[in-house]
Amino acid sequence: MSESHTIIIGGGIMGLSIAWRLAREGQRVTLLERGEVGQAASRVAAGMLAASAEVGYEEFELYALCRESLRRWPSFAKQIEADSGLQVDYRSNGTLIVAHDRDAAVALQRGYDFQKEQGYPVEWLTKAETLDVEPFLSPRIVASVRASEDHAVDNRMVLKGLRKAAESFGTDILEHCEVEHIDLSGTGVTVRAKDGRTAEGSTVVISAGPWSRQFSGIKAEYLPPVRPVKGQILELRMERPFELTHVIRGAKAYLVPRSDNRLIVGATSEEMGFDVRKTAGGVYSVLDGAWEMVPGIYDLELVSVDVGLRPGSRDHQPIVGFCEDRRVFIATGHYRHGVILSAVTATEAASSIISGNDSAVFEYFTPKRFQGEAS
Ligand SMILES: Cc1cc2nc3c(=O)[nH]c(=O)nc-3n(C[C@H](O)[C@H](O)[C@H](O)COP(=O)(O)OP(=O)(O)OC[C@H]3O[C@@H](n4cnc5c(N)ncnc54)[C@H](O)[C@@H]3O)c2cc1C
Repeated sequence: MSESHTIIIGGGIMGLSIAWRLAREGQRVTLLERGEVGQAASRVAAGMLAASAEVGYEEFELYALCRESLRRWPSFAKQIEADSGLQVDYRSNGTLIVAHDRDAAVALQRGYDFQKEQGYPVEWLTKAETLDVEPFLSPRIVASVRASEDHAVDNRMVLKGLRKAAESFGTDILEHCEVEHIDLSGTGVTVRAKDGRTAEGSTVVISAGPWSRQFSGIKAEYLPPVRPVKGQILELRMERPFELTHVIRGAKAYLVPRSDNRLIVGATSEEMGFDVRKTAGGVYSVLDGAWEMVPGIYDLELVSVDVGLRPGSRDHQPIVGFCEDRRVFIATGHYRHGVILSAVTATEAASSIISGNDSAVFEYFTPKRFQGEAS
């Protein structure tokens, strides 16, 4: 029997967090990244840990998974900080889901009823109560829902922390190493990069975001059905007296304050293939939606515009678990929820790979649902 050794393809939040969890359990791990780790969607994301505000109200399983991950996040963040010595700006100030007009208030009420039914701790705030807690919101808003357990994190710091933590436990990270071929013909797994380098292990984790279908050598049905969903997002700089405490979400945009006065404003959702151009229309629509809720952003400095590609699966649910050939583990398709879901994905993926057992938490999200094995 060869020694267990996991080869991870892709160094986004999924690949890095699984590497860290495996390595801190004493497992041998090699992570191969096409560019530099932590530079794709995981860096561009807003960092919302929004179980309540983000998930649609028909998505029961996903909602439960997000809540489970949110429950794990405080200790996940503390462990990253302890293992790396870096702070990840975990903010527990909560989220305000804002209705900017009467139509939006009707939709907000429906969402609120669903969240209440699910036993989620949400609170209806009148216009006056809303303006009381966030004075920089527009006086035109109608009402809001406070989701006090929807938190936020600085995902860029999380990525730096994960890298440092994973390396401190011995993970080998190879950058500028683009994998193109996965060979399962022997007893283990051999992956080959474009430049001819190879890595051999006992398990391969495919966590290459929306590029997770682009490998030769393995059965086509193992390649997860993911596509890129483009998101344009902006960074503004908050200057006194302007201040936001909560994450603010509306129908057309969201605003996520960081402790260092950055304000992340997002995001478009565009079916544009692998196009990563920043467009005038994208910037306009994000600013317009945000300005409607928080007019004071008008005077803030625009620091940057970024583009990320969310890995969206065919049914918009994550794809996590072993393929029929249990040397292949998939961790992608997290779409709009990859940051929040990293805590539960990484911990469950690592324990599955170590034990060889499927995770009960991810039963509904198995890759086998696309491989003709599960209903
Ligand atoms: C604008 C925007 C805002 C978002 N906001 C939030 C949010 O607030 N909260 C939330 O939970 N989620 C959010 N998301 C979603 C979240 O960012 C993603 O779900 C998550 O980052 C996906 O992580 P990943 O590791 O699967 O993919 P990625 O971050 O895309 O990483 C995949 C990595 O694989 C590498 N790779 C690809 N092909 C190969 C290859 N052949 N060989 C080697 N390496 C390869 C890539 O270079 C990349 O580094 C947002 C996304 C966007 C775009």
